[in-house]
Amino acid sequence: MIRAFLIDEVDSKVTGSVREISEDALPHEGLEIEVLYSTLNYKDGMVINGIGRLVRNYPHVPGVDLVGRVKASSDPRFNIGDEVIATGWRIGESYWGGYSTLAKINPDFAIPLPSNLSPFHSMALGTAGLSAMLAIMALESLGLSPDSSDKPVLVTGAAGGVGSIAIIALHQLGYKVAASTGRMSETEYLKGLGADEIVPRQELAEETKRPLETERWAGAIDNVGGSTIGRILGQMVSGSSIASVGLAGGAGFSSTVMPFLLRGVNILGIDSTACANSRREIAWRRLGELIPRSQLESLTTIQTLDDLSGLASDILSGKIRGRVVVDVKEQ
Ligand code: NAP
Repeated sequence: MIRAFLIDEVDSKVTGSVREISEDALPHEGLEIEVLYSTLNYKDGMVINGIGRLVRNYPHVPGVDLVGRVKASSDPRFNIGDEVIATGWRIGESYWGGYSTLAKINPDFAIPLPSNLSPFHSMALGTAGLSAMLAIMALESLGLSPDSSDKPVLVTGAAGGVGSIAIIALHQLGYKVAASTGRMSETEYLKGLGADEIVPRQELAEETKRPLETERWAGAIDNVGGSTIGRILGQMVSGSSIASVGLAGGAGFSSTVMPFLLRGVNILGIDSTACANSRREIAWRRLGELIPRSQLESLTTIQTLDDLSGLASDILSGKIRGRVVVDVKEQ
């Protein structure tokens, strides 16, 4: 028997609970992994609360991230005992995910755990860390460097998972960082991660009729979307880029084409879900090199499968600070 957090839909309402189920209940997928840790991401909160129709078939095991040891493999790339990470690829949405002591996944979804990361630290980073690194790599590919401007790089949704790790990574790389948050009470936390400047969320969320404002940001990692991305477009330094990661403040936005035409500003889409494994491997290795472990541990809380229902609501209402690792074996 295995222990898993399963969600079910009854009368159009999704509820979850921890249950003992047979190993055979898991759909067979080629790679069996003894799961050591999973995580909590914004998308997990949506899945557990049945928001966005991300899951079509119930019962379902959520958990978009997992790390563990190979227990059985029909694929020659993996041997029993190998430590692997699997994130995205619609794991925890279309496929059963990491909130289980055993996972069975498509071998194409797994990559080896890099030698410079422990299983715990890989999940303290999780999809949030991977997305933050992919965002930095995208900005670098269009010319961002610590010397490219004397202006800071803006991170929105700063106290969340992606935001927190983005701030640490940017600071470690030598950038000046501006952190935008709706929780001014987290000022000390954000400065501790490496933020040089705190920008109140409201300042960027207010729409303006001016298509171009003073150039403020050398680059931006936007986790908020909505009116915020519309506003910061007009504040970007000439030739700079915004990496669009999230939608915590809304999906739609309005703007004009002026920032594109008159300042050559770019919006770069970040999709950690279907990103090629070769690119993920580079991103994970860079995270392993860059992120100080003590800092990562200080922003991470460890929770269990039993805590997930409450945590899912907390992350959707913006109450979670930093990262949550789910110790799937702990009861
Ligand atoms: P998270 O830990 O919940 O952080 C989101 C942060 O956004 C919150 O901590 C809060 O930061 C801010 N926020 C929350 N509600 C808001 C609102 N109504 N208006 C403005 N800001 C709000 O989530 P995460 O895991 O970091 O993910 C961040 C976003 O990126 C989510 O939308 C997620 O779905 C998306 N994401 C996308 C990818 C991808 O591949 N593109 C990968 C991972 C995540 P403050 O309290 O500091 O303001």
